[in-house]
Parts: sequence; structure tokens; C-alpha cells
Amino acid sequence: MAVERTFSMIKPDATRRNLTGAIIKTLEEAGLTVVASKRVWMSRREAEGFYAVHKERPFFGELVDSMSSGPTVVQVLQGENAIAKNREVMGATNPTEAAEGTIRKQFALSIGENSVHGSDAPETAAQEISYWFSETEIVG
Ligand code: ADP
Repeated sequence: MAVERTFSMIKPDATRRNLTGAIIKTLEEAGLTVVASKRVWMSRREAEGFYAVHKERPFFGELVDSMSSGPTVVQVLQGENAIAKNREVMGATNPTEAAEGTIRKQFALSIGENSVHGSDAPETAAQEISYWFSETEIVG
């Protein structure tokens, strides 16, 4: 297995409930290492740009509202098979379908306010990391 980097976010619904530490603990226990991290309050424009792939979806407005409603912790995770491992520990998009022990099963409020984001493929990971971080901010 290769060591990979992936992009992760702790969304405003979770930072608002003071769940940042609990979520990072779950990620670290899964073998992922936080190699870059910062807290941002994204603008509507930044949220629209980040989620541009979803701009035609009916939930786009709600998603942008929610992502610009409070602080988000943006981070880069590193580890073996990090992209798939992070998706696994996050759980399904809809918390009612998420497996026991996953972050979304434990903490998500709804399909929209589902506490975390994680890249789904190497190409999106590279693109999403570079949306928020320069290479010098990542310390592996
Ligand atoms: P994931 O975050 O699991 O990769 P998607 O890429 O499909 O899921 O969707 C991106 C985000 O958009 C989700 O995490 C969620 O916050 C929001 N979202 C997805 N589907 C819905 C929906 N049906 N209603 C409201 N929000 C949604």
C-alpha cells in the first residue's frame, strides 16, 4: 500500500458543537496523521468554488449556506491508503446509512450537515489540497 495524502474538512455543524478534537482523535486512531491544518470561515464564494462540481444539484444553495455559516477546519491527512481509509472512517454521506463507529454515524445531524468532508480520489485530493494549502504549509 502506498502512503497517500487526502484533503479533509471538519464542517461548521461539527466545529459549532466543539467536536474538532473528537473527530481528529477518530482519524488518528484510524492511522491517519494530520500534516496540515487551519481553521477558516469560508466565504460564500470560496464555498461555491470548492463545491463547483455540485453547482447544478438541488442542494447546492443549502450546502453553500451551511459551509459559510461558521468555522471549518481544513486539513491534509497522510497515511497508507489515506483516501479510502478516510472515506471509510467518515461513513456514508447520509448518517442514517453510515456504519457503526464512523464519524458520520456518531456525529452527523443530517445528510447536509454531516460533519466531515473527504476527497474521493487521487485527482480530487490533489485539487482540493491545493485549493486550501500551499506546499510549504504541509509538513509530513
Ligand atoms: P460526500 O461528502 O460523502 O462525498 P457528496 O460529494 O455526494 O458526498 O456531497 C457533498 C456534500 O453535499 C455532502 O457531504 C453533503 O454535505 C451535501 N449533500 C449531498 N447530498 C445532499 C442532499 N441530498 N441534501 C442536502 N445536502 C446534500
